[in-house]
Amino acid sequence: MDLLNYFFNPKSVAVIGASSDSYKAGGLCLMSLLQCGYKGTIYPINPHHEEIFGVITYPSVTELPETFDIGLIVVPSQAVKEAVLDCARAGAKGVIIISSGFKEAETGQELEKEILQSAIETGVKIIGPNTLGLINTACSLNLSFVPFLKEVPRGPIGLISQSGGVCMLVLYALLNENIGTSKAVALGNRCNVEFSDILAHFGSDPEIKVVLMYLEGIENPRLLLEEAKKITMFKPVVAYKVRGSEAVNRAAFSHTGTLTGSFYLYQTAFRDAGIIGVTSIDELIDTAKILSLSPIPRGNRVGIATVQAGLGIIFTSVAEQEGLKLAELEHSTIEALDNCLSSMARYTLHSNPIDITFGVSDKQIIIQTLRLIMQDNNVDMVALLNTHHPEYTPNILEAVEQLAAAGEITKPFVLMQDSPAEANDSKLKDIERKNIPVYRLPDRMARALANLYRYADIRQKKETIISEQSSQAALDEAKAKFILAGVEQEGRNVLTEPEAKEFLSTAGISVTPVKTIESSEEACRAAASLGTPVVLKLVSPLIVHKSDIGGVMLNLAGEKEIKEAYEEIILKGRCFDPLVRVSIQPMAPPGIEVIIGAITDNQFGPVIMFGLGGTTVEVYHDVSFRLLPLNTLAAREMIQEIKGFSLLQGYRGRVVVNLEPIVDILMKISTLVTTFTQIKEIDMNPVIVYPNKALVVDSRILLTG
Ligand code: ADP
Ligand code: MG
Repeated sequence: MDLLNYFFNPKSVAVIGASSDSYKAGGLCLMSLLQCGYKGTIYPINPHHEEIFGVITYPSVTELPETFDIGLIVVPSQAVKEAVLDCARAGAKGVIIISSGFKEAETGQELEKEILQSAIETGVKIIGPNTLGLINTACSLNLSFVPFLKEVPRGPIGLISQSGGVCMLVLYALLNENIGTSKAVALGNRCNVEFSDILAHFGSDPEIKVVLMYLEGIENPRLLLEEAKKITMFKPVVAYKVRGSEAVNRAAFSHTGTLTGSFYLYQTAFRDAGIIGVTSIDELIDTAKILSLSPIPRGNRVGIATVQAGLGIIFTSVAEQEGLKLAELEHSTIEALDNCLSSMARYTLHSNPIDITFGVSDKQIIIQTLRLIMQDNNVDMVALLNTHHPEYTPNILEAVEQLAAAGEITKPFVLMQDSPAEANDSKLKDIERKNIPVYRLPDRMARALANLYRYADIRQKKETIISEQSSQAALDEAKAKFILAGVEQEGRNVLTEPEAKEFLSTAGISVTPVKTIESSEEACRAAASLGTPVVLKLVSPLIVHKSDIGGVMLNLAGEKEIKEAYEEIILKGRCFDPLVRVSIQPMAPPGIEVIIGAITDNQFGPVIMFGLGGTTVEVYHDVSFRLLPLNTLAAREMIQEIKGFSLLQGYRGRVVVNLEPIVDILMKISTLVTTFTQIKEIDMNPVIVYPNKALVVDSRILLTG
């Protein structure tokens, strides 16, 4: 059986450190259990009392009349290890350690290690330490020190929070928005119950329709992602990861290394796993509401009705920024709306958004307008926006209720309705009971609706990915291995540009041919066979950024120029490395410079990056990431995702670039990096792209060790 089931549906709970003082955590925990109406057996444990709050109390768990499922530990940190061992001896399936003073405190590091060790030895599962605990509304279970959580109504949400405080904050915010919760848990220091464990449990719980997560940062996000991937196809998972202040690693070997921060990797990872990433608590709650009430839309086209056009302008602006489209209404709809609204002098635009203005004085006009928008074949979702007016708001609310009662709301429908001092509160609650989410502000509603569509898109994409054959690029593995072995044998971990290019060629990636030369005469001979103009570059494992020290000389032609350039560059190079050499390659014709790179991140594993190349890449940070391995759909998407994408699409007379050669390189890098796990960082900067091909003109590779 799923071990976590014992935590959420225990037959019996022992409160170790139960107290008769209701101001202490031990008293609060016992009160929480008692007040919520939990039907299982409760065993307060305290050697100094025979009963607490009217419940028979035992001196130790080892003296209980029977085995029990869960131990709720609320003793001082020094006594926790013994309590865990006692619980294990007494046959408990799991413990929740509310007590703090562990990893989160300077002095508690050792204590935490000891607890983990005792968990390993006894096989007991531990939630916490330093946690709020958990609730399960289905069985009125409140294993926390917050008796007030009994107010949380039962509903479709499963909440996993790293922090106890944020868990409470979200639970109360959900409550204020009339959204019920099924199960909620704060994980605290995560001794041996992880996000991924809870996610798996929530995934298989039919009562949970939407999973919410709050994370600060975890050690092994891949575990969580693997688990999320299994459930996001049929159950939405929404995550809020706070953005920490990230020190930029300016000394990184590659540009990719500099540009990869954990915030970006989390966003990438969420998208890969089909998790909807949000950036505030508001957005988390708003998204939870729409996902728990609305059906999934077929597409992203919104039909909008407003009473005050200004609200529609804000809504539309945010909706479009977030990936929604303004629906182009069918001709027949416009005609019918003309008839319906013609008496309203201010109805002049005849297009979406439809401004009802004074039509709001007639409920039938509101109903007819909404009905026409809802029935339009070009509309996937409908939004209605109104700011409170004591005279007209009741008409709006009644119109919506009437349509809902008649079963005419057949597509996702959202209502923005503010209301002063509870004026319409009960009416709005009634509307939400009919599965219509209500929001108080236009921008928040737009973001929530966009996230609903995002989930539709996730499901649709997953279907496509599942049906796509996973393709590993063909690879001359023996040759690639030979190149890496050669470098490792020399005790190096950096591949020079010629080595890196040879390595890339083993996967069939197009590179400019490059030859290492020993003299100016050889340079001239090579130029004759390669064709001019040519480029001379320094070759040395000690020189990583060649042009920073004048180690790249471009566009050289003619014997004299090449010879002089050779002498100049080698002199410069010897200042940095006495064994420096020089390479020659043809000058690639001008095109658009992009950067492709990959790194193996300590937490996330292999990650690939795409961006516009050149020296500005680090300034503008216009790059996109994906976790590896990659599929072609994601490869195409990551190219289209960068802000400068229009530069590849014929912007102001530039060429239009075929994306497939870039996709091809991304897929090949994916194969190389996942096959050769010793690759730590790889940079191809620049890759020059042309209408129908992409050519790597510079590359560097760093191996582990
Ligand atoms: P580094 O990145 O080590 O400074 P590169 O080899 O990338 O050195 O060279 C610097 C710049 O010179 C590149 O960004 C590119 O614009 C240009 N360049 C390098 N090699 C070629 C080439 N073969 N053809 C055309 N331009 C090149
Ligand atoms: Mg470069």
